[in-house]
Amino acid sequence: MKQIDSYDFSGKKAIVRVDFNVPLNENFEITDDTRIRAAIPTLKTVLAGGGALIIMSHLGRPKGPAEKFSLKHILARVEQYLGVPVKFAPDCQKADEQAAALKPGEVLVLENLRFYAEEEGKPRGLAEDATDEEKKAAKAAVKESQKAFTKKLASYADCYINDAFGTAHRAHASTALIAKYFPEDKMFGYLMEGEIRAIDNVLKNAQHPFTAIIGGSKVSSKLEVLKNLVTKVDNLIIGGGMGYTFIKAEGGSIGNSLHEDDLIPDALEIMALAKERGVNLSLSVQTRVADEFSNEANVKVVPSHEIPDGWQGMDAGPDSIANWKNIILNSKTVLWNGPVGVFEMPNFAKGTLQIAEALAEATAAGAYTLVGGGDSVAAVSQMGYADKVSYVSTGGGAMLEAIEGKNLPGIAAIRED
Ligand code: AMP
Repeated sequence: MKQIDSYDFSGKKAIVRVDFNVPLNENFEITDDTRIRAAIPTLKTVLAGGGALIIMSHLGRPKGPAEKFSLKHILARVEQYLGVPVKFAPDCQKADEQAAALKPGEVLVLENLRFYAEEEGKPRGLAEDATDEEKKAAKAAVKESQKAFTKKLASYADCYINDAFGTAHRAHASTALIAKYFPEDKMFGYLMEGEIRAIDNVLKNAQHPFTAIIGGSKVSSKLEVLKNLVTKVDNLIIGGGMGYTFIKAEGGSIGNSLHEDDLIPDALEIMALAKERGVNLSLSVQTRVADEFSNEANVKVVPSHEIPDGWQGMDAGPDSIANWKNIILNSKTVLWNGPVGVFEMPNFAKGTLQIAEALAEATAAGAYTLVGGGDSVAAVSQMGYADKVSYVSTGGGAMLEAIEGKNLPGIAAIRED
């Protein structure tokens, strides 16, 4: 497998899949350019090495070409960060001449890949009453035309770089299928390399004790995460809304707290697995409860197994946090996914803030700490702790699937021969 650091880009055209799926306001102005900034080191490396760049990305979820989702809105920002003029191909499938004319140091951005259904390989515009047969035929047709779509993108360049971790869990034309056209000339960009290293640091090469803190709203959305982690960690902390299903499974009274009765058997199975493997599964012992789901609600602190009717768990109480902090500070590897309370409401953000603080403290003491997959990333950034932990993942869904133990197609396509 080639490495971006040692690859010779001189005189070559590199087609780079980035994640420029940035939020735009109603005037098509970028409101957060984190994702653009994240790809710049990779892009600059190609230019500095004497190569030319063909940049490709998706933006939003268009159903076909649409002004609102055009990548032309981001060109000026890319120019600003790269410090060179950027050309634009208004149709990603008709960029042959522009790509062929590129000279070393020049940059071409292709229009939104998802203007074509072939990028994702999913049929569009099917009638609502389409039969299964019709759906199957439409799927087969788009899969067939996806081959030509992918081949066309590949024809523009001499080498392929994937630096779009946010879509690494998708087997799309630009994220996975294109790699086979560059058997000797495919590689990860720096962002992907960083994310893969972070995943490996916790899932493959973790230093023990290894602790995972899993919070968030629902057990159902993190069942696979829990089942995979229980085979790897020493301590499994389960907090947030999903914790109440476990507390109920243990026979606790949870009042009006969020829970999923149909997931109780799964919760019991995870608890049994933890016991069998000697994993310390730590639930909340004390909860900050409210009499309604509102920041202005009345609040009190009660044992998590004795939540009165009419009250619901909104945040971890001080005793829970003290337990968890102790576990975190005694760990060498910590993975955190999901807030331990309704952190969007200031009155119920304290537990999540204290977890962020504990991670920062553990990091300063030498532990490896990874925050990944969804709302905990927002929480840790909002609270100003993003640069006080070892790594904050940029890919919500992709990181979650990696933690589930799945092989991500965008990673496998580069690693495979
Ligand atoms: P997830 O996307 O699964 O990581 O869930 C994040 C969401 O879980 C956030 O919007 C939190 O407000 C929510 N959450 C955390 N704790 C609770 C709780 N005790 N009750 C209801 N929602 C919660």
